[in-house]
Amino acid sequence: MMSRTIAERGEGRPKLVIHGGAGTISREGLTGELETQYLETLRSTLLHAFEILEKGGSSLDAVEGAVREMEDSPLFNAGRGSVFTHDGKVEMDASIMEGRTLKAGAVAGITIARNPVSAARAVMEKSPHVMLCGVGADDFARHMKLETAELNYFSSDRRWSELQEEIARESDDESTWSTSLSEGSRGKFGTVGAVAVDRAGNVAAATSTGGMTNKRYGRVGDSPIIGAGTYADNSSCAVSATGHGEYFLRYAVAHDVCALVSYKGLTVEQAAQLVIEKLRNVGGEGGVIAIDAAGHHSMAFNSEGMYRGWIVAERKPYVMIFDAVKKE
Ligand code: ASP
Repeated sequence: MMSRTIAERGEGRPKLVIHGGAGTISREGLTGELETQYLETLRSTLLHAFEILEKGGSSLDAVEGAVREMEDSPLFNAGRGSVFTHDGKVEMDASIMEGRTLKAGAVAGITIARNPVSAARAVMEKSPHVMLCGVGADDFARHMKLETAELNYFSSDRRWSELQEEIARESDDESTWSTSLSEGSRGKFGTVGAVAVDRAGNVAAATSTGGMTNKRYGRVGDSPIIGAGTYADNSSCAVSATGHGEYFLRYAVAHDVCALVSYKGLTVEQAAQLVIEKLRNVGGEGGVIAIDAAGHHSMAFNSEGMYRGWIVAERKPYVMIFDAVKKE
């Protein structure tokens, strides 16, 4: 007998999970006002992107929509809120993947796209390639007539002072350029991401980031790398990662979670926890969000917090930063 799809079995309830990064959070550093702003933005992102799923839209549309909304917020290190490079510019990375077809698209070091995640989707759908970088990615965004923006759109006093602090810290501390990956990582990162399952039981994942404050020499982290920052496969799950990218690259984190589900039969939660625990043991700070075709999800992290939330039927968004769950 042919096996029936999840949608045919009637289990296909759409669901969306998002994160706004794990690398920049400390309880002391977050004022009540800022905390409220983050939670509000997570809530509205969940509500808007869930509408796409409710109206029968695909998980791909929902993760792109969710990431676009967070890219448009100055709060998160992605799109508008991207951190500055050493040279006072922005170089953004993003990727997107569809679990039904294993099609994927990514951009690295893009400087002009208002919404790098949409540039990644255009690479996936309108080019024969998976990844474009630097000036080529900028040219492609122009060629595709994607919405572009000047540097002043991305600039803010907050990000500028973070860069100045980082430059000052670096000149005080010669070890910054040592090969030890845990040196001085705290506070330099941030990312946004989304994973979703739609009514048809198809999963998708997307991730977008400004990378690391004060980065140079064209540094690229895990976020635009398929298999490290993002992966999606209907037969296992969809994953978006956030954290100290060098570790996530070396441990192929997003694909590792999917592989544990696929080859070992672990649940999404078990697989995500195992991979995040492994990272903790080697000093890699961060987390992942993951979802499978039946709607099981995980939001595992080993950092002090992770901006995150999820939404399923009844339009009730759950959002949280540290441990406590806040429900609307
Ligand atoms: N993983 C991103 C990077 O290394 C940053 C983050 O997720 O916070 O560029």
